[in-house]
Amino acid sequence: MQKKIALVTGANKGIGLEICRQLIANDIHVLMACRDLTKGEKAQNKLATQLTDVKKHSTLVQLDVTNKNDVQALATTWCQEGIDILVNNAGISRGVAKTVITESEEDARLTLETNFWGAWRLSRLCLAHMKATGYGRIVNISSGHGTYAKLDRHNPGYRLSKLALNGLTKMLDDEVKTFDNILINAMTPGWVRTHLGGLRANRSVEEGADTAVWLCLNDDQQIRGGLYKDREIFPW
Ligand code: NDP
Repeated sequence: MQKKIALVTGANKGIGLEICRQLIANDIHVLMACRDLTKGEKAQNKLATQLTDVKKHSTLVQLDVTNKNDVQALATTWCQEGIDILVNNAGISRGVAKTVITESEEDARLTLETNFWGAWRLSRLCLAHMKATGYGRIVNISSGHGTYAKLDRHNPGYRLSKLALNGLTKMLDDEVKTFDNILINAMTPGWVRTHLGGLRANRSVEEGADTAVWLCLNDDQQIRGGLYKDREIFPW
């Protein structure tokens, strides 16, 4: 049987890189999508210290999720080849110290462009192949901060981008409701020690990536159209 192919965005560090490591360890061929290939090469070399034959089991792909030309290039190469699993992980957070009144529109827009529009763009592309084969997994890396329960005035671009990503997850699931084997979910990794999460965070990248990888490999058709944390449903 041919290996499944997964595309992971924001693959050069943090949770994205750990998702790549765990997927490769599970015999998936991983397209490590990075906006800067030099950083991607360093990340791939780092994986090579932990796993064997990393360069055989992964491919670096240049992809800035906000750049329509990059996305188009992907459409004419890998999307035609077929992406079985898409992990929308790339994310930024620019308004941590800002509120709904003080965050600049520019920062909020860039955050939505990356965290939400990037995921929408790539999901549309990948779904064409998934619908043709009847198989697909999409995992959106969201955040508890994107749930209505956590919607306060802080970091508005980020919270709204993840709220929209959660909404997109549910809508995409509806789009594929007649397909038993196309399963689309969102997950929240908790507070993880990364560039975005900071050093004080209480979780490791291994813990942060676990549920995302579980959803990528999931074969339970009841697990669809939801938000998950620690392999359990998490309220929107
Ligand atoms: P990091 O900052 O460590 O990594 C973010 C990744 O996204 C980097 O590879 C970065 O690339 C990439 N990226 C940013 N913008 C773009 C873009 N326009 N195109 C392509 N790639 C891009 O963050 P985390 O690993 O912590 O975050 C991963 C995901 O997890 C995010 O979606 C985040 O919102 C989510 N999350 C994280 C939490 C945490 O506590 N860490 C909590 C909840 C959710 P580059 O290196 O080039 O900047």
